[in-house]
Amino acid sequence: MRATVMYGAGDVRIENVPDSQIKEPTDAIVRVTRACICGSDLWPYHLRRPEDGAQRMGHEAIGIVEEVGSEVGTLKKGDPVIMPFAFSDGTCVFCHEHLQTACLHGGFFGNGGMEGAQAEALRIPQADGTLFVLPARGDDALMPSLLTLSDVMGTGHHAASVARVGPGKAAAIIGDGAVGLCGIIAAKRLGAEQIILMGRHSDRIALGRTFGATDIVSEREDEAIARVRDLTGGLGAHAVLECVGTDQAMNTAVGIARAGGAIGRVGVPHYEAVPAAQPLFYRNITVGGGPAPVRAYIEELLPDVLEGRIEPGRVFDRTVDLEGVPEGYRAMDSRESIKVMVQP
Ligand SMILES: [Zn+2]
Repeated sequence: MRATVMYGAGDVRIENVPDSQIKEPTDAIVRVTRACICGSDLWPYHLRRPEDGAQRMGHEAIGIVEEVGSEVGTLKKGDPVIMPFAFSDGTCVFCHEHLQTACLHGGFFGNGGMEGAQAEALRIPQADGTLFVLPARGDDALMPSLLTLSDVMGTGHHAASVARVGPGKAAAIIGDGAVGLCGIIAAKRLGAEQIILMGRHSDRIALGRTFGATDIVSEREDEAIARVRDLTGGLGAHAVLECVGTDQAMNTAVGIARAGGAIGRVGVPHYEAVPAAQPLFYRNITVGGGPAPVRAYIEELLPDVLEGRIEPGRVFDRTVDLEGVPEGYRAMDSRESIKVMVQP
């Protein structure tokens, strides 16, 4: 079968690999019908060293169960499923607390030697706990939005939840990538009255407005902080969704957070220590977040997708087949594309 393999920074190849096989009785094999390229895939696309070895890529997919191991009880061949970016057993203490990304028997696809979803198929460990069976094969037009429930929409929702977005509040979103744009949808869904998008790309800003952004801030650093403060009566935003992961983004987040507010971090941090410890302390700002337990959020978000109340699939502005994946990485890296869907 064909699969995406990254060998080092900028070196993404589509190769013939051995067909995915059941290795544990709790495994399933899923044939991928839609996958995508993630903003977080761009970090190794910049930084991965050849000595780190080859890695199969992709952690977001919807597909069809092709085979199940002998201990899999809730799935059968032919089931349409959403594959969250992390696998989880669904039975441990953290899974019961709806924090599947801390599962005692879990891990992440397209990482640490695991198979990836930018492929014709892949092996799913802990299949019963991991895969979410869709109620029906559904209409093709819904597929892009269903695909976002494997990561970006759940991740945007996590940022909004951790940042304690609620009715009447002001929310600010740092980052106009697919996660930030889904964060707008999440903030609106949770009742935010004011939704400030901090971004600079005209295509993303336009989409952000249709998703519910009420204000756009395109300045940088101190000027950006001053603008958000102006827009919020000088006080700052109750809820800050940090969807980038750099220390500059965190500094901005602290600068625009209102006293007593909260910052939800979902950008993978590429800094050693959380900056601005003093203002965080003196202004009683809560910092939380991490890998989103998207498996827990599917049930909550799915009805809104199926009934058309939210359309997070609009973040996809380009579709490629598997052979087009390297070009998809290039297009996302150069910001020509917001998010690329892969249709094997
Ligand atoms: Zn678990």
